[in-house]
Amino acid sequence: MSRLVLLGPPGAGKGTQAKRLAARLAVPAISTGDIFRANVAQGTELGLSAKEYMDAGKYVPDSVTNLMVRDRLAQPDATGGFILDGYPRTTDQVRELDDMLAEAGTSLTAVLELTADTDELVRRLTLRAGTEGRSDDAEGVVRTRQQVYLEQTAPLVEVYSTRGLLHSVDGLGAVEEVTARLEQVLAQAADADAPPAGDAQAG
Ligand code: AMP
Repeated sequence: MSRLVLLGPPGAGKGTQAKRLAARLAVPAISTGDIFRANVAQGTELGLSAKEYMDAGKYVPDSVTNLMVRDRLAQPDATGGFILDGYPRTTDQVRELDDMLAEAGTSLTAVLELTADTDELVRRLTLRAGTEGRSDDAEGVVRTRQQVYLEQTAPLVEVYSTRGLLHSVDGLGAVEEVTARLEQVLAQAADADAPPAGDAQAG
């Protein structure tokens, strides 16, 4: 069963890789950013409360985000596993996610971190502003988002590393190569979890 979190700074390719891995693992890719953007586009109350934070490159308050994720993880398609893209992003969100999973009698299977150089990321995101027209990809906002990531989300790497859940992968390179790296660490993690071959006969 795959219950995964994808961590990494804005522009590292989380969205792209989450969708590719999700297709291969047959689980939903759940992107909090995508859910917020869809709500903004539809003009829902959730969208209205999120928009000003998103446009400024800041995090939407945990109280709003946590409830939204709780609701999404309770949908039937997420009971067989999921890949979270862009959540958790604060230590409070880590705790909330732990609680949500514990209530369901489960826990995370792995956390995948995509690493990338900040200058390269600012270049990528500024390019994306041209192609996708995201309002939070303007250069000043891009820098704020990197800063917010460093302050609020980078500490999660240590949290998950201490739990033995973290696998870091170089996020630079061709999309296919990065996916292959992620699949490789997942396969290694699965092997490490499996009992040694022949154990059943031992004794
Ligand atoms: P993303 O597409 O993941 O880069 O998210 C876009 C924006 O949505 C972020 O800059 C935040 O404003 C908001 N957002 C997405 N996920 C979260 C989260 N877990 N906590 C708070 N805000 C979030």
